[in-house]
Amino acid sequence: MWVPELQPDLTAAVVPVGILTTSRYCWAGCSFCRLAIPLPKVPLSRAPVGLTWDQVEAAAPDFDGVTMVKLRGGLSTSQSFDYWIHFIRRLRKHFSGRLMVFSPIELWQYHMVERRSLRDLLRLLKWAGADLVGPGGSETWSDDRRTRWAPYRIETREWLQVVEVAAAVGLDYAVAPMIVPQMEDENWDDYVAVLRTLEPDHIEVKPLQSEGTAWSVMGDASVLETAQVVHRLRQARPELTIYVRLVEENAGDAAEILGAAGADGVVAPQWEVAP
Ligand code: SF4
Repeated sequence: MWVPELQPDLTAAVVPVGILTTSRYCWAGCSFCRLAIPLPKVPLSRAPVGLTWDQVEAAAPDFDGVTMVKLRGGLSTSQSFDYWIHFIRRLRKHFSGRLMVFSPIELWQYHMVERRSLRDLLRLLKWAGADLVGPGGSETWSDDRRTRWAPYRIETREWLQVVEVAAAVGLDYAVAPMIVPQMEDENWDDYVAVLRTLEPDHIEVKPLQSEGTAWSVMGDASVLETAQVVHRLRQARPELTIYVRLVEENAGDAAEILGAAGADGVVAPQWEVAP
């Protein structure tokens, strides 16, 4: 097993991030999801109302204290895509940092439900002020893994189609490999093979935090398991920025280990506004 050699000057930086959650409800029921309250499939017009700008104003989040804001959520919200375009326009008046919006599965849902082209949707996001598309769904780069982990998520080819169009209209995108405890090395071969063909803005490694998910008995991915994957990704793509999403209390120690493994930063949510 590869073990990182700790050096103080290789500690991963802490990247402060703000979260705007569009909806806590989602019909997809992914095994690893900590975010969403499961909701049976209902017409989206009857789904709960998502985040409003009044809720953001009431929460008064510290936009100046974060370098990136992520607009993300479950899939069950009754608002239309154009509602979110207006929301992003307002958000842009308050925040000038990196703005990550939606993920390929959310965009695919609007593409299907509203019968609008991906190009139309992504050009509107760009026009509204988005910088990049969120990463959710990248674990589907293995269709076998998708079937076992998140059968209702979009397929690999659909995910790739969304980011291809995003790049064509000038939006960046991110990728986010999920680390599940005791994954075998071979599990990463197909992932790395796809990663070598893409030009994402950054990689955001997601160690499984299993509490509150359908996989709660599995436990969390450890910092050392995470370091192994970071090391492997760093070797595969030396030039790419690698972040690790971490919510552990010992994030300081983890940042040192992950920095030695090759991570550039540890993503640290500073606040969340949710409906
Ligand atoms: S699609 Fe996203 S929000 Fe919905 S269950 Fe899966 S991970 Fe959670």
